[in-house]
Amino acid sequence: MAPIAFTLAGVTVRFGDRVALDAVSLDVRAGERVALVGPSGSGKTTLLRLLNGSVRPVSGTVRAGDDDLASLSPAGLRALRADIGVVHQDLRLVPNLRVSQNVLAGGFGRQGLAGAMRAMWRPRRGDLERAHALLARVGIADRLFERVDRLSGGQQQRVAVARALYQDPGVLLADEPVSAVDPARARDTVALLTDICIERGLTLVMSLHNLDLAREFFPRLVGLRDGAIRFDGAPSRLEGSAYRELYRLPHAGGGPDGG
Ligand code: ADP
Ligand code: MG
Repeated sequence: MAPIAFTLAGVTVRFGDRVALDAVSLDVRAGERVALVGPSGSGKTTLLRLLNGSVRPVSGTVRAGDDDLASLSPAGLRALRADIGVVHQDLRLVPNLRVSQNVLAGGFGRQGLAGAMRAMWRPRRGDLERAHALLARVGIADRLFERVDRLSGGQQQRVAVARALYQDPGVLLADEPVSAVDPARARDTVALLTDICIERGLTLVMSLHNLDLAREFFPRLVGLRDGAIRFDGAPSRLEGSAYRELYRLPHAGGGPDGG
């Protein structure tokens, strides 16, 4: 499926009295790779949840491809979500099931619950071969029939990536996908995810706490603070005052005009 683009126009999201996103406008082109950066609580997760329709704005519009998400029917929303693979921070794997079953569960959005259950417990050879090929791509082909809870953290991340790809999405969304592993493992996984998106022409939007990784692997950073976009551009531009402003750091030198 062709990758879809997103357009947010004047989008405000509130949770009770709290403004999580404040009149945010943003375009993400099909096939683009965007890292969402910024302090904790700045609205990164909320922005990702907007893109797959799991959070609704109080004002403004969110479009995915040609669709205004607010006017999608439940079936339309399911179809959209089937085209959007998600890698969650906590992975959301089923630990006591095999790797193969976890990957095949990625078919849920396209096959429905009954179809995905059948595929998990009595997989057809073609489905298993596809799962195996994806595991080979993420570097753990030999773990197909292993139980997930026997794998290392880094290997489990790869299973979560393979599962998201199994649904054959046009878009990958990832919310802090590497915050739970050591830096070397985190770098490997971000490299893998970005490589795969380049190979397949997928749109990738990933929130990343680790700014160094965001700079290294993404051509475009979107920086949020207090629910507003404070930076949007190439990593090389997020230096000096732009950087200090995003993270609200004191100016170097300490004086009123220091730094
Ligand atoms: P980030 O992912 O950048 O840490 P979030 O999008 O999770 O930021 O949160 C943005 C703001 O919205 C924060 O002030 C947070 O406390 C608030 N918020 C997020 N989700 C909820 C929720 N479900 N209920 C209430 N407040 C929320
Ligand atoms: Mg978050």
